[in-house]
Amino acid sequence: MSNIQDRSVTAEAELAGEFDAVIVGAGFAGLYMLHRLRGLGLSVRVYEAGSGVGGTWYWNRYPGARCDTESMEYSFSFSDDLQQEWSWSERYASQPEILRYSNHVADRFDLRRDIQFETRVASAVFDDVTGRWEIQTDKGERVLAQFCVMATGCLSSGQVPAFEGLDTFKGEWYHTGNWPHEGVDFSGKRVGVIGTGSSGIQSIPLIARQAAHLYVFQRTPNFSIPAWNGPLDPEHEQEVKANYAERRQTARTSRRGYVISFNERSALEAAPEERQREYESRWLDGGLHMLTAFNDLYTSKEANDTAAEFVHAKIRETVHDPEVAERLLPRDHPIGSKRICVDTAYYETYNRENVTLVDLRETPIEKITAHGLQAGNVPYELDAIVFATGFDAMTGALFNIDIRGRNGTRLKEKWADGPRTFLGLATAGFPNLFTVTGPGSPSVLSNMMVSIEQHVDWIAECVEYLCERDIRSIEATVDAENGWVEHVNDVAYSTLYPQANSWYMGANIPGKPRIFLPYVGGVGAYRQKCSDVAAKGYQGFELRHL
Ligand code: FAD
Ligand code: NAP
Repeated sequence: MSNIQDRSVTAEAELAGEFDAVIVGAGFAGLYMLHRLRGLGLSVRVYEAGSGVGGTWYWNRYPGARCDTESMEYSFSFSDDLQQEWSWSERYASQPEILRYSNHVADRFDLRRDIQFETRVASAVFDDVTGRWEIQTDKGERVLAQFCVMATGCLSSGQVPAFEGLDTFKGEWYHTGNWPHEGVDFSGKRVGVIGTGSSGIQSIPLIARQAAHLYVFQRTPNFSIPAWNGPLDPEHEQEVKANYAERRQTARTSRRGYVISFNERSALEAAPEERQREYESRWLDGGLHMLTAFNDLYTSKEANDTAAEFVHAKIRETVHDPEVAERLLPRDHPIGSKRICVDTAYYETYNRENVTLVDLRETPIEKITAHGLQAGNVPYELDAIVFATGFDAMTGALFNIDIRGRNGTRLKEKWADGPRTFLGLATAGFPNLFTVTGPGSPSVLSNMMVSIEQHVDWIAECVEYLCERDIRSIEATVDAENGWVEHVNDVAYSTLYPQANSWYMGANIPGKPRIFLPYVGGVGAYRQKCSDVAAKGYQGFELRHL
């Protein structure tokens, strides 16, 4: 390690703006990346646009925001002291609690001193001559770094659709992904929520309880499964903590990064009563477990239909008005091909007198007006509008930065027809640039904590390998990248995922290429591939001493 220790820069060099590594983002990925690189003795600067740590959990403060990965699994595993000490209060942690946890992590590992908050990275340009990255911020600051790690988040670039007339609206409007820190009081107000993805489905029940009237503007109905959230059972907590090492290992080698049992039987082979039993037991278990009921729910539309019909029946049972229930039934995509939602009393909310469901398929939003919006020919008077309209996922935050690699090539141009990466970690022509949970990695299809830790560990070990050997740069080869992109597509098209107009496919952003963005091949299998590449001296990468 002596080489690495020697590379630590002095305070003077830091003032001159030279670092071994710059990390963009101080969500869980950026925090852990900082901890690991600092542990190697590197000088590191983190830039974060927000005024605090936490990323997703810093920005998404809308009513009802919470995890739908169970708390005991949605946490760091790299420090046993941390995981033993920290106690979650509920089965699914709320946004304020996860934000407290990320602040605790930042304090516990003394991370803040290397993070510059309220600073947005505007550009990152590779210098072909010096082999370093030049990073510029919106504060006019310029620093140099050998390594640049984009920990910018998959779901951090919020999207407000370009509706005509938004600038004329006289009420208040909000996006769920940029919620005011002081909260919003909707009491006595007529509120419109646009969007029924996970953010809409979590916030709608709570906004309905406060607002005078809530209009839900739904374009595509989604499948939602009850969370059955509640206080964390202390016995369960103790049991998990006693077996954390083993459980974490199970999660790391699993399909989705969860400790969850998959039924290896086909839904089509099961008798109708068995199917009903399996679905019912998972419904009662709640959350994301629904699609573990059979092994062909992601690959056979016929099998998938049996699960979809089960959920349709639940919606019909719950919603009193049959016409409203029909409008809530998702019919245009296989269950699971869009991110399944997890709710508390979502469908029940439509039984309230002060809630109206507006079907945008029948009456699309024409424009926002000074006093509300117009859908079809119908005007809706609103005091506030909530955009639960999602994110420019996986590539949005990267494209917000002017990233230029060798010969000035812009990442945005290179990826104009869809992202091209090797393992979702790196892209050819951009040496020493890493993306944590980048496109082409399991990322958003997994328990993100597991995927973040795996990527950060891989990057840290790679940097250590390079430093120990005085290798100045690592760059994915075009061949390796082409092979990986093809593989990511092949696996995606062996499933039902591409059948949905989802953000996984880039379909929520007008003009975005229709490419399946994450890697669906499984967390465990993917981890193995990454480890094999490293074990073979970073096969698929070109290493240069310069
Ligand atoms: P983020 O948390 O998104 O952090 C990225 C940070 O980078 C942000 O703080 C952003 O401000 C900063 N940044 C971006 N660009 C720049 C720039 N140019 N300059 C400076 N700073 C920049 N995952 C799960 O596994 N389970 C869940 O239940 C779950 N629930 C979620 C709920 C919501 C509402 C959302 C939006 C996502 C959820 N996710 C969930 C996914 C979640 O994003 C990840 O779990 C995780 O928090 C991502 O961490 P990250 O550090 O990679 O990215
Ligand atoms: P989303 O899933 O993309 O949902 C956006 C919603 O807005 C969709 O219903 C979409 O309709 C609608 N919409 C978008 N543009 C519209 C337009 N021009 N007109 C009308 N409707 C429009 O976004 P999200 O709900 O913020 O969730 C994004 C992801 O974040 C989730 O999938 C999940 O991974 C994560 N998340 C997780 C949780 C959790 O429970 N832990 C909570 C929130 C978010 P269409 O479907 O028709 O496009």
